[in-house]
Amino acid sequence: MTQTPPSDPRPFEQIRNAILEKQRFLITSHARPDGDSIGSQLAMAFALDALGKQVRIVNSDPAPDHYQDFPGMERIEIAARVEKPDVDAVIVMECSDLTRTGVAGLEQEFLVNIDHHAGNRMYGALNWHDESSAACGEMVFDLIRALGVPLSLEIATHVYLAILTDTGSFHHSHITPRTFDICRQCVEAGVTPAVMARRVFDSNSFGKLKLIGALLDDMELVDEGRLAVLYMDDQMLAATGSTNNDTEGLINLPLTAREIQAVVFFKVTGTGDVRVSMRSKYDVDVREVASEFGGGGHKNAAGFTVTGHLADLRAGIVNRIVRAIAQGLESRPAV
Ligand code: 5GP
Ligand code: MN
Repeated sequence: MTQTPPSDPRPFEQIRNAILEKQRFLITSHARPDGDSIGSQLAMAFALDALGKQVRIVNSDPAPDHYQDFPGMERIEIAARVEKPDVDAVIVMECSDLTRTGVAGLEQEFLVNIDHHAGNRMYGALNWHDESSAACGEMVFDLIRALGVPLSLEIATHVYLAILTDTGSFHHSHITPRTFDICRQCVEAGVTPAVMARRVFDSNSFGKLKLIGALLDDMELVDEGRLAVLYMDDQMLAATGSTNNDTEGLINLPLTAREIQAVVFFKVTGTGDVRVSMRSKYDVDVREVASEFGGGGHKNAAGFTVTGHLADLRAGIVNRIVRAIAQGLESRPAV
């Protein structure tokens, strides 16, 4: 069995030992969970089951609809607070700080922080932070194998889901031989890549297709077509018969145009806050932009939330991304 040792073995060993010693676990991840949050959480939950542990999974928001048929989804509790968790450890996946969970009441618990985002605050009793992982699911895979748990079809499915989605369907940076090695083992355990890709990427509602049309119709190009600006609000959702959940993945569409180096997606819904998501190609670093506005993420996928009117905020954000594009293009790979 091939397994790449983690960059710093100590937290990995400590977390492995803590999991073996402890009995009752709560697993959580970030608000508005994505495929990596769901996949990492459920792979871990099935592994803890196999070890005879007690497991609860609590998230602040439900997962998008196309994840609902994956094994174990019914186990996820949705709550903004956990009163008296009564567990031995809380495993926090994919969160650079605890507030990213949107779940209150966990602050005093024994926190096990497992994350691959840059800028992790190391808030746990145990902290395993590995930026070289393409998905948190890669880290969970290594942990599960080190715990001696066999790669069941459920676990393999969730690890593969985590990697497939967090690499943007094998588009983003950070993909390494290890990524494919883990995927190979998942496929050997029974995962069918074509089925996974169809379930994740070809499960749009008609409303979502209409929304894609409306978004792209309104798309603006700036910086000589290097930056695409997408905008969405509640009226657009209503007009197209779509929901906020239908927006997942749409930000990647403009990147399929050769000239476009980055996309920014402004979502103005409900609360009046402006949710800003960004994607980029190659060395255009949108995480740096996000962190300047109080958010985070990865070089090619990052986001933040700002309060205020988009009309006042837009130019500052767009100009900052245009600068990131200029910097990124300087070091663009030749092929
Ligand atoms: P998305 O645009 O899909 O919401 O997020 C893209 C990436 O950026 C994800 O890895 C996500 O975890 C991260 N991200 C998005 N918004 C925030 C934020 O407000 N704070 C931090 N720390 N990370 C974020
Ligand atoms: Mn992730």
